[in-house]
Amino acid sequence: MKPHLTLIARQGQAAELDWAGLVPEATRRRLACDCVLSDIKLDPEGTVLNTGRARRTIPPSLRRTLVARDQGCRWPGCDRPWRWTDGHDLWHWEDGGPNSLANTVLLCRRHHRKLHEGGWALVWAPGGDLVARPP
Ligand SMILES: [Zn+2]
Ligand SMILES: [Zn+2]
Repeated sequence: MKPHLTLIARQGQAAELDWAGLVPEATRRRLACDCVLSDIKLDPEGTVLNTGRARRTIPPSLRRTLVARDQGCRWPGCDRPWRWTDGHDLWHWEDGGPNSLANTVLLCRRHHRKLHEGGWALVWAPGGDLVARPP
């Protein structure tokens, strides 16, 4: 089950999760990588203006292709199988990153957390390998 994330379109406002209430920004960003998302727009007083249709941030077709390509966590040296992974945007979709195979990798929960909450970075190296860089 992917987290159901409600993204509130107001700057500096943490998102609300159906099951967890408010979460820190780094955690919200991690969950936003691969979730069911509904957008809610608020006016400046915080009144809900509208709620959009819920959608998967990683559509099933992309997920299938990722599983075929990555087979498991792409963190260097990790061998966790794909069943334990989430999709991760190397360039976060909230910052304009494309929903594409080149921009998305599978990561186990531990390594996904290391990137978002731990401040590590994962970048493509020449030759098509991923390199993990400490904060
Ligand atoms: Zn991520
Ligand atoms: Zn891993």
